[in-house]
Amino acid sequence: MSITYSCKQVAVLLSQAQDEPLGMLDQAKLKFHLSICGNCRNVEQQMTQMKELMHMSFAFDDSLPDKPDKQQSAKPAAPDS
Ligand SMILES: [Zn+2]
Repeated sequence: MSITYSCKQVAVLLSQAQDEPLGMLDQAKLKFHLSICGNCRNVEQQMTQMKELMHMSFAFDDSLPDKPDKQQSAKPAAPDS
């Protein structure tokens, strides 16, 4: 049994970590792998960015109470000409 994860395992763990906190051992192994593997660092960054984007869009939804133009934009616009 290896003390480090493969890139494949890291990818799985990273997506798992989005849903649930990892165990301490998993976290340590993950951190170690990320410290030596730029490829997985990129993957982690992308996941973090995606998470932040999702949080941002949720925050936007919260700050906007039901706006009438939201429904209007869903309907086809009447032709102007
Ligand atoms: Zn890797």
